[in-house]
Amino acid sequence: MKKTCPNCKSIIDDDALMCPHCNELILDDPQENEKFICPVCGAENPPGVKSCRFCCSILPETYG
Ligand SMILES: [Zn+2]
Ligand SMILES: [Zn+2]
Repeated sequence: MKKTCPNCKSIIDDDALMCPHCNELILDDPQENEKFICPVCGAENPPGVKSCRFCCSILPETYG
């Protein structure tokens, strides 16, 4: 997989810790933060959902 450097927008390896183009430190993938992992079944849900799409557990409103 590839991801985009948040500083220079270059396409870099997903596991890169530093951008080879501008030496920006890559802390984590911002796209990962947009998913909400259900604490019950571990399924990925979009942010803002009130209950898990897969097991219907009520999700904490942390991402609301
Ligand atoms: Zn960069
Ligand atoms: Zn679930």
